Amino acid sequence: MIILTNNEGKSGIGMTAELLRDGRAGLDAVEAGIRLVEDDEEVRTVGRGGWPNLLGEVELDASVMDGSTLRTGAVGGLKGFRHPVSVARAVMERLPHELLIGEGAARFATETGAERCELLAEHSRKAYARWFESEVSAADKAAWPNVPLERYCHDAVDPEIGKDTTVFLALDRARNVVAGTSTSGWGWKYPGRLGDSPVIGAGSYADSRYGACACTGAGEMTIRAGTARAVVLYMKMGMSVERAVSEAVDDMRALKGGLISRVTIHAIDAVGNHHVVAVNGLPGNHYWVWTPGMARPERRACELVQISEGAPQSKRIAMQVYTDV
Ligand code: ASP
Repeated sequence: MIILTNNEGKSGIGMTAELLRDGRAGLDAVEAGIRLVEDDEEVRTVGRGGWPNLLGEVELDASVMDGSTLRTGAVGGLKGFRHPVSVARAVMERLPHELLIGEGAARFATETGAERCELLAEHSRKAYARWFESEVSAADKAAWPNVPLERYCHDAVDPEIGKDTTVFLALDRARNVVAGTSTSGWGWKYPGRLGDSPVIGAGSYADSRYGACACTGAGEMTIRAGTARAVVLYMKMGMSVERAVSEAVDDMRALKGGLISRVTIHAIDAVGNHHVVAVNGLPGNHYWVWTPGMARPERRACELVQISEGAPQSKRIAMQVYTDV
């Protein structure tokens, strides 16, 4: 057995480990852990309390994957619901589809009785108001929101330094390998932008025969490189989990142009080994892991690998003016 989660999964890993230790199914444990992170307002990139998009709305993405059936469920751009991970699980269990977005996802959430919630917390509302006041031109303010957003999208790079989506990977007692993700995506993203978290194969993948992988950071990069599926496929081809992750990092070196920033790749194999690499990561990037030999989950440092100059720090720091309260 093993549970692996990223730095943002801290509030959920204890519960996830407990459920796993009690012999509960990996998907139940992962969903329960992610729900706690979705409720944790200190995590400003997941669920309630997440940063809004350029229009000041919180749009959530989430997914689950059952590695024993290869069924998945995902939602993208979901607004107004407290637990997108549970809506994603309902997509997997109740529909013949794998991914729902926007209004359709919200409609399905309502149909299944998912709990509604005001996602824009006070700190986010204030940060957005500060940004709007300082960055939006007088002409655009007068016409808002009927203005081109492209310029603002380029200027507003993820305001969080080292804060991400939450991802959970688990191998349960019955040897099922599962994955789950949940995120508000990048702060100040273009409305409708989907990252990798609901894109199975990019932001997560699980196959009980080989292992699982999930990524955080710039989803634009893992979508282009097909990272999560690649890691699991490399394990199928016989590579160790370390080698598979390092091969996927190599794949990223081929990305030219577009957004090249920070990505953390988390992976487990089907017998409980794990490996985590922070590509263009920052010192201090860490993750959480629990295996049956541990009294409690342990915090470990990610291996750091540099593949570029790194993220445009100056813009990030500029955005912090609005997000640091
Ligand atoms: N991977 C997420 C996305 O691209 C964001 C993150 O982990 O910070 O939406």
